[in-house]
Amino acid sequence: MIYEVKIMNKDELLKDYQEIFGEAGKDVFFSPGRINVIGEHTDYNGGHVFPAAISLGVYGVYGPRTDNKVRLYSGNVDGDIVEFDLNDDSVEKDDRFWANYFKGMITYLRQREDGEKINHGFNLYVKANLPSGSGLSSSAAIEMLMGIILKDEFDLDVDRPSLARLGQKTENEFVGLNSGIMDQFACIMGKKDSAIFLDCNTMKYEYKPLKLGDYEIIIMSTNKEHTLADSAYNDRVSECHNALAKLQTKLDIKALGELDDNTFDEYSYLINDETELKRARHAVSENGRTIRATKAMEDNDLEKLGRLINASHISLHYDYEVTGKELDTLAEAAWKQDGVLGARMIGGGFGGSAIAIVKKDEAEKFKQNVGKIYRDAVGYDASFYDAEIVDGTKRI
Ligand code: ADP
Ligand code: MG
Repeated sequence: MIYEVKIMNKDELLKDYQEIFGEAGKDVFFSPGRINVIGEHTDYNGGHVFPAAISLGVYGVYGPRTDNKVRLYSGNVDGDIVEFDLNDDSVEKDDRFWANYFKGMITYLRQREDGEKINHGFNLYVKANLPSGSGLSSSAAIEMLMGIILKDEFDLDVDRPSLARLGQKTENEFVGLNSGIMDQFACIMGKKDSAIFLDCNTMKYEYKPLKLGDYEIIIMSTNKEHTLADSAYNDRVSECHNALAKLQTKLDIKALGELDDNTFDEYSYLINDETELKRARHAVSENGRTIRATKAMEDNDLEKLGRLINASHISLHYDYEVTGKELDTLAEAAWKQDGVLGARMIGGGFGGSAIAIVKKDEAEKFKQNVGKIYRDAVGYDASFYDAEIVDGTKRI
């Protein structure tokens, strides 16, 4: 896949659309990727997450058609326009894998009560400056792009959290990844300069201003795609599920996210499998860290926030076992640098990206030093991005 990290302008995108489809496009949308300050692999365990939408994302140009054809073109994928009929083909999985993220959203929105309002086809040109498979959630960005375009253009009566749910359903059922709600929720509910403190058990959420003072968040990509990690991800989901079932023999809980560290400790003897015990311990301890981290940020205790972020990585390494050489190299190199409060992997793991909270005037030196350590250890370059925290998916 081909990416150029730059903010794109509407005229350029409309010009591309004209060249691809031979007519003028109607509206332009932007759907952000996301980072996650803390709270990893907690969403599908009914715990808390603390993500934020970023200025790297996916642009989409929409144009209506008078027939029932849907024609999709991605500027980031080699190959032709993907075409299917709104009525016949949209429920079938496409062998052009990337089209499934769009097909899933179209299918599920058409199955809703007012889904018959989607009564004609359309052209869609997508172009991302967000690398895919990099743990920054390009998949949720394209799902939410499709969701908001359909909601806006066909005047659907569907709210944003419901679109996030349909995105999750698309991943679970169309793509085959048993992921939680965090990515879609972050992309579509994002708010400028704020992170979202979301309880994935109750779906209650609160925006918290990301007050980092003299510090900034630097995104570090391993440049190792995590796409082969899907089966390991699904294993983690089922290991946690098994651990929960064992705890439920004595505890009246619906999710691991309902437990604090002490209660978990007292009942952990029920989990008679070492792997399941470690997975559940991460889910519980990470949820506690996430709650404490948001409090630390509110109290302006950035050093504590940083330590909790480091502890998150350690738990993802030893208990959840989803880091790997590349992510460990980035986090460990970051911890050694001047002016760093904390660093950890984000996203599913096994590749993808990490974040570090770094003093602004140390940022350049940080990138150089960590970049060199990474290249020496891994054999190719990491990429560094300074992204802004932005609003969720919208028309631009
Ligand atoms: P992540 O969400 O962390 O980026 P995923 O593996 O969940 O990684 O999603 C990546 C997949 O999403 C790609 O393999 C591709 O199918 C699809 N995708 C992402 N960005 C684009 C894009 N710009 N155009 C077409 N498909 C894309
Ligand atoms: Mg994804």
